[in-house]
Amino acid sequence: MWLRFTSFVVFLVAGAAAGWWLRGWPAACAGLLLAATAWWLVDALRAVRVLRGLREDETLALPRMGGLWGELADRLRRLQRTGERRLQASERRLQEFLEAIQASSNGVMLLDAEGRINWCNPTAASHFGIDVERDHEQLIGNLVRDPAFTSYYANPDPKRNAIVTGSGDSAGRPVRLAVRLHFYGEGRRLMLSNDVTALEQAEAMRRDFVANVSHEIRTPLTVLTGFVETLQSLPLQEDERARYLELMAQQASRMQTLVNDLLTLSRIEGSPPPGRSEWTRLGDLSDDCEDEAQALSALLTAGQGAPHALAFVPPPALALAGSRTELMSALSNLVSNAVRYTPAGGSVTVAWQALSAGQLEFAVEDTGPGVAPEHLPRLTERFYRVDRSRSRETGGTGLGLAIVKHVVQRHGAELRIQSTLGKGSRFAIVFPASRVRADAPVSANA
Ligand code: ADP
Repeated sequence: MWLRFTSFVVFLVAGAAAGWWLRGWPAACAGLLLAATAWWLVDALRAVRVLRGLREDETLALPRMGGLWGELADRLRRLQRTGERRLQASERRLQEFLEAIQASSNGVMLLDAEGRINWCNPTAASHFGIDVERDHEQLIGNLVRDPAFTSYYANPDPKRNAIVTGSGDSAGRPVRLAVRLHFYGEGRRLMLSNDVTALEQAEAMRRDFVANVSHEIRTPLTVLTGFVETLQSLPLQEDERARYLELMAQQASRMQTLVNDLLTLSRIEGSPPPGRSEWTRLGDLSDDCEDEAQALSALLTAGQGAPHALAFVPPPALALAGSRTELMSALSNLVSNAVRYTPAGGSVTVAWQALSAGQLEFAVEDTGPGVAPEHLPRLTERFYRVDRSRSRETGGTGLGLAIVKHVVQRHGAELRIQSTLGKGSRFAIVFPASRVRADAPVSANA
């Protein structure tokens, strides 16, 4: 500011001095006026240059000069650079924010006050079968027709989810979405969607499971209660008493088997997958299976003339890694099923076989009734039975193959089922090469 004032004074003094030197005092006054006008003109020109730069919105092209106007141009330039840096930073943040929403596994959709789609991430687009480009600004009510959505949309509650049918839903492959609407701005809505198909299925499975277990326990319990009442209220002969007690023992053992299978299933599901530190010789597993099969066959065919023809092919000298208890449970379930479903006089063959890629197969073949192809995919479901009465008569719980499936999965193995109705079945477990090794001299857990 001092410089500006000084330059003005210097101009005036120079003008006045020049006038006085040329023509005396009157000319000095004219020189003074002329100098003031010239100073003002130069100053105005400089201001115009700065203003032009601003008007053309090219502040970075502002002239570089000294004095007050130069200082002003410099400060404006600095201000603009700071503003641009801030703008870039906030654009970067916005971009990152949008990328995060785009990557979210939850659907996010922005709707205007009329319910038109302003923006949505790819997850929301796939949830509702929306084309982001084509359906931009379309009314959501026209695109999502599920009545559950329509009624929730008409009466939204940000505290509760609406469960609606998602895009691609079919009878064999349901798609269920949890949708929630939140209000923001002036009547705008944020719609969040979440795929809850697996959760819904798990919940349905849990309900079915509880219903099945209750049903399985209620039947023997009802029989038991009936016998107890009979024993309490009727004077019975000794042989009748003994027969009733025998039947009661059968029902109690049925419940016990069921509870044991349930405990086995929950233990298997709740424990970490078995490692490769415990090795069991195939010979040991095979011997245990054979003992159980012989005992079961004797029990089931007692008084029926022809027993089962049980053949246990001697296993190769190999050992298997995994939980011995679980392996035994899976193998004995397959063997006992073959014995239970094969009528007296039929044959059951159990064999271990080393396959070409180092895998190991355990196979149980029987000449029983076989299973029709439509039942095969469901055999490993809990409580799924083809022959309900045969299963019950022989002490089945409907959980055997579910246990086998779990054990097989936990050991990285594969369950293969082949069956021909009226001819027989072949249930095989193929263990991966990584769980097989040459027979250890002594069983690790022996
Ligand atoms: P269960 O305790 O009823 O035997 P599983 O889960 O072991 O239950 O088997 C499921 C169903 O598969 C059985 O109810 C039976 O109908 C059928 N099944 C299993 N193994 C055989 C087999 N070897 N031969 C014929 N049917 C079988």
